[in-house]
Amino acid sequence: MHRFVRPLALTVLAMCCGAALAAAPADQVPHGTLPRWAVPESYQLSFKVDPKQQDYSGTTTIKVDLKQAADHLWLDGRDLNVSKVTITDASGHAHDGKYVAVAPNEGVSRIDFGSTLKPQPLTLAIEYTAPLNQQLQGLYKVSHAGVPYAMTQMEPISARYAFPGFDEPGFKTPYDISLTIPSDVTAVANTKQISETAAGAGWKTLTFAKTQPLPTYLVAFAVGPWDIVNGPDIAPDDYRTEVLPLRGIAAHGEGHRMQHVLSETPSIIHTLENYYGFGYPFGKLDLLAAPDFSAGAMENPGLVTFRDWLLLLDPDSPAKYVRGSFNVTAHELAHQWTGDTVTLAWWNDIWLNEAFATWMQQKVTMKVHPEYRADLDRISGAEGAMHNDSLTSARQIRQPITGNGDIETAFDGITYQKGAAVLGMFEGYVGEDTFQKGMRAYIQAHKFGNATADDLVGAIATAANQGPTFKHAFNSFLNQSGVPYVQTRLEQKGGKTILHLSQDRYLPVGSTGDANRVWGIPVCVRYATGDGTKQSCELLDKPTGTMVLADASTPTWVMPNANARGYYRFNLSKQEWADLTQHVAALSDTEQLAYADSIDAGFRHGDLNAGDAMAALKPLTGVTTREVVVAPLETIKWIYRNEAVTDAQQTNVVAWVKDAYMPRMEQLGYQRKPGEADGDSLLRSTLASALALDFKLPEVRAALLKQGDAALAKKADGHLNLTAADPDLLGVALAVAVQERGEPALDALIAELPQTTDPALRNAMLDGLSATDTPALADKARDFSLSKQVKVGEMAAILRGNHDTSAARDALWHWFTGHYDQVVARTGSFAGGRLPALAGGGGCSKAEADRLQAYFEPRLKDVTGADRGLAQTREQTLLCAALKAKQDPSKI
Ligand SMILES: [Zn+2]
Repeated sequence: MHRFVRPLALTVLAMCCGAALAAAPADQVPHGTLPRWAVPESYQLSFKVDPKQQDYSGTTTIKVDLKQAADHLWLDGRDLNVSKVTITDASGHAHDGKYVAVAPNEGVSRIDFGSTLKPQPLTLAIEYTAPLNQQLQGLYKVSHAGVPYAMTQMEPISARYAFPGFDEPGFKTPYDISLTIPSDVTAVANTKQISETAAGAGWKTLTFAKTQPLPTYLVAFAVGPWDIVNGPDIAPDDYRTEVLPLRGIAAHGEGHRMQHVLSETPSIIHTLENYYGFGYPFGKLDLLAAPDFSAGAMENPGLVTFRDWLLLLDPDSPAKYVRGSFNVTAHELAHQWTGDTVTLAWWNDIWLNEAFATWMQQKVTMKVHPEYRADLDRISGAEGAMHNDSLTSARQIRQPITGNGDIETAFDGITYQKGAAVLGMFEGYVGEDTFQKGMRAYIQAHKFGNATADDLVGAIATAANQGPTFKHAFNSFLNQSGVPYVQTRLEQKGGKTILHLSQDRYLPVGSTGDANRVWGIPVCVRYATGDGTKQSCELLDKPTGTMVLADASTPTWVMPNANARGYYRFNLSKQEWADLTQHVAALSDTEQLAYADSIDAGFRHGDLNAGDAMAALKPLTGVTTREVVVAPLETIKWIYRNEAVTDAQQTNVVAWVKDAYMPRMEQLGYQRKPGEADGDSLLRSTLASALALDFKLPEVRAALLKQGDAALAKKADGHLNLTAADPDLLGVALAVAVQERGEPALDALIAELPQTTDPALRNAMLDGLSATDTPALADKARDFSLSKQVKVGEMAAILRGNHDTSAARDALWHWFTGHYDQVVARTGSFAGGRLPALAGGGGCSKAEADRLQAYFEPRLKDVTGADRGLAQTREQTLLCAALKAKQDPSKI
């Protein structure tokens, strides 16, 4: 990276203040954090925005505490056309300054004062214009049913596109926001509106109440002809004396579909307030359904924004949307405490926001909707993260930030799911009540300020009366990557039953990593004795350890991860595996998930062949818990895709699948039954998708094709009859129809998508568009993904299809490299980390890894975060190839 030292303005310095101020900073362009000698204390943000136009204007006024003599200061601003800078000093004297975009690709800018100023409070007023962003960042433009809206998404470092400022989480200040907008539209922001005044012909100015101290990334507002609907007021409780008003904000015509989520919200807020012992502090709460959005949702205090399909629900909405809506709402509202009230000090601690919101969301869901089984979600989520965490290129939970790419790629499964699992593990270790005590103290100590990992770990350790060993154990999961691999071995010695434990890093076949790594793992085992089961726990913080079991006789079986509370995988001797498999029905459903994961881990580690893995997983498919029933699917899909080469092998795998799942599929049928449990609807949709699309079972495809054909038939009004299919199965039915009917089906979807605003129907059509299985049709769908008819946030859904066979991946590769610039132009730099997986995900040969490397290497410097995406996709491709080479095809 190009760095330079800025020459001192010596003459000005001499004129101004003499030798005493010769300390004016001879600093370099800050590429990480901004220097702390100029600190913002408050902002006034004024915007003039008409969503119909391409640009907007703004004036940002910042009170800054200049802590040392300087002739300039550093701040962030990107793609801003600054016309005027006014600096007012402590005595009230105002003069012009200059705005210089020093590192435009990072958004680092400098304000030159024109002379050296002594330390004092300053007021900067910066007037500028900027384009309404087209890539869902900063202040961006979207449209719904052809009508434009403007809204914001600042996290992590996109506030600098919307206004100049100190765009780092460590700077928290109050904001006063005012919006001048066309008279015929409305606007919302973080806080309540406090005034409306006329602002010339056709314009009005809305002013909003001063915010609590916030970092730049939590500032939010939205302008357009929004529907605003009232939800139920949230009553005061032990921790909040004022009524909390609740509203839903949606694009025009969609507001009535917010009632379901609004009705769920009060119980979420009360649960969080009771847990933290701290009332919701942001005065009002609006939930906004965004017509287009880069993430899933964003926790802006007072104005939480979501992808529209998470909020716009009907009585017949797919079950996964209804559950997803609750889970994501609980996650975003949990952030109002961890993230918004207490904010990370710097991006290396983004887990303090995201791991906690994920962990807390699961707690809320367990309380309000226990039937959603958020405890199982946490385990499945952690096991998903373990796949990524087994890569040598995996991030740590606390990953040092070496550039903006590390900030952009920090929002991954390691931060969210691994983070939540690690919290759950140490919560289990100290006890839930003790952990809560620590959390309450942490929120009180850092409210409206910032915190680091040490603050959090310290608060929990204090509450639990724990010392350095505990902190060291906790930190061992935060500050190093990888999944611990715990091996157990039973021994009878001196009349006692001893369980020998050892740990190293789990690394799959083909990995070049070093397995020699030690964590402080709270290991809990459950084992069967003559009179039921018992549990025994130990903090394993050395490479090896032992546990003396309470029972003198050898247990019938040992489950090395009791209740699946530990973030680790386990391995057993052949005999102990056999014992456990034989008694797998005696395990809790949480433990059955850990069992499934460790079988998969053993397969990918080379300890089990495909036939062994299939046999060991089979008993799980007969249990009652949905999450356990489907847990083996990913392993079986891998075997089917990559190992079952001959017809006979394919037949064997398909026979396993049919035997395991067809009875359940037939029992569920292909239509939702009146009043059925939503878990049944979810199981129907998971099984239908796997059986029809992955394993191509003709009878399932035929049933879905019938629904797909019915959905593609035109109604009298010329629209497709999309509601003719079961709502949970519409996406997979359209996918089968596209594969069976070919181009006419694809064309029908391409024609219908632009005429459909319903987000659930749009998503189902995207499923259909991504399911093409010939190169020509796939190219047609991909070309369509680049058109304006497909929203920016929808494009990847089409490109993610077609990765299953090497022929399909070759065709995708050809198209992708031919359209690379257009893809990047649409997504912007924010999605850079995901580009390599979009181009080469699912690869399973060295040739694919090599072409990915050769193509992206020279492009890395232009796309933030792509380097980590490349390293991980490449490594996954090589690992898949190594596992494939290791297989003995006779063992299926
Ligand atoms: Zn979050």
